[in-house]
Amino acid sequence: MRRYVGQPAAQGLASGALFALEGFQSAPPETESPIGTPGEEGTRLGEAVEAAKSGLARLMADVDAESAAIVEFQLAMLEDDALVEPAVDAIAEGAGAEEGWRRSLDAQIADYRAAEDEYFRARAADLEDLRDRVLRHLTRVDASAVPPGSVLIGSDITPTRFLETDWSNGGGIALSAGSAASHVAMLARARGVPMVVGLGQLDWAESEEALLDGGEGSLVLAPDEAARAAFRERREAEEADREVQATFAAKPALTADGTPVAVLANIADPADLDALPEGLCDGIGLMRSEFLFHGPADLTDEEAQLKAYRAMLAWAAGRPVTVRTLDAGGDKPIDGFTPDGEANPFLGVRGLRLSLTRPDVFKVQLRALARAAAEGDIKVMLPMVTVAAEFEAARRLLDETVAGLEAEKLPCRRPELGIMVEVPAVACAPDLLGAADFFSIGSNDLTQYAMAAARDNPAVSALSDGGHPAVLGLIERTVAYADDAGKPVSLCGDMGGDPAYSEALLRLGLRTVSVAPAAIGRIKAAIAGVDLSKGTG
Ligand code: PEP
Ligand code: MG
Repeated sequence: MRRYVGQPAAQGLASGALFALEGFQSAPPETESPIGTPGEEGTRLGEAVEAAKSGLARLMADVDAESAAIVEFQLAMLEDDALVEPAVDAIAEGAGAEEGWRRSLDAQIADYRAAEDEYFRARAADLEDLRDRVLRHLTRVDASAVPPGSVLIGSDITPTRFLETDWSNGGGIALSAGSAASHVAMLARARGVPMVVGLGQLDWAESEEALLDGGEGSLVLAPDEAARAAFRERREAEEADREVQATFAAKPALTADGTPVAVLANIADPADLDALPEGLCDGIGLMRSEFLFHGPADLTDEEAQLKAYRAMLAWAAGRPVTVRTLDAGGDKPIDGFTPDGEANPFLGVRGLRLSLTRPDVFKVQLRALARAAAEGDIKVMLPMVTVAAEFEAARRLLDETVAGLEAEKLPCRRPELGIMVEVPAVACAPDLLGAADFFSIGSNDLTQYAMAAARDNPAVSALSDGGHPAVLGLIERTVAYADDAGKPVSLCGDMGGDPAYSEALLRLGLRTVSVAPAAIGRIKAAIAGVDLSKGTG
């Protein structure tokens, strides 16, 4: 039996036979066809690239909006001549299509892997995906079908490989390298596919039995009977927990002493609501609107935004829907919109700072929001607010926008305007932002800024501790100020969905959280276990 420990990337347990991802073996390369003339090889490459593009376009039509955005990103990369040109040059110099393509892509992948920015390093997996996809067309080797329930093992996994895999019979992903911040890790969390990254050097054999624990970040190979029994017990406990959570999810959240707590949902796309049964939550506490925008053209499409906001209001049926205005920048760049080359984008022009530099774009979003507000309880929330002047500038733009819509005689309403509390300066002196209609604590960013530990850097993840007294103190200060001022306050960062923090957050006065849909049952169950009438002992 061999046990390895890496970093958790997506929770859950998986047991099954190992299945190696392409290239994860020092196996000899696939048989390649004899080299033709440069003209013939160039044509073969061109055809393989076209076939890969059509495959991606088909895949895009079959998957949900969030996954489609990832496939679209790869398609855009493949459509960029700059990606293919080095291979064309290598072919002109005598290389075969396979060799030319592999060599030029490997060089580009190495550049991405060497990037300082975690975001770019994570995108290397997209390039590997494209390399293998085109190679499969060149060598006419089909992607091997993964036997149901397998634990996939590799150095990294590509997003399309993830999307093409049928996870309906379980299975998981164990990576010697990889990143918890990658696109594919985000997909695994959203789909509930257990995933562990950073396992390091692995001694393994194809089809070997594997036990993967995505919560703990561990992989056991060739387990003995004791390890199997322990895993079975954990799995039974997890299933029992899930049943309990489903019962709690269906009811309003109450602590053991009967204190009501509002639990709302965080979403990134109206399509997320398809998987969220009505009545499970008290509304939408955070809609991360940046995920509506895949490129510069979307930024000024008022009607498309209005349609998305209306869809959420229809689902909410009278419950509140809080839409956060575009929070681009940091780990969420938008090509052609966010500034290039910032040395530290998390401390740069992101969120509201960026929106205020582009009133042309910001006003389109405010117009769509004010128009949607005529039809339901939409609230507008500003990200990355640091000083009162920023809030005032946004408020003026909203007032002007509403006045403009009224002059055009378009149905509209001025929505409430609140702020995210995610910059420590605001949490330390919340009274300076007293003009906001409501506050929502963004504990993800608040923790990274308070602890000076980038949220996308696994090397400092141990420091990213929301339970540190400094972070809890900032949250407490914000809640106390809002309560005194009679303003609604909630918390919409990941801490809200983590049962480990529920009691601490409730004891410091928080009564509203907004969490990932998958965490609703878990957090309502945790809230039910807290008795606020008793001291902490
Ligand atoms: C946060 O920072 O806690 C938050 C909710 O926003 P995001 O995770 O989208 O930055
Ligand atoms: Mg944030």
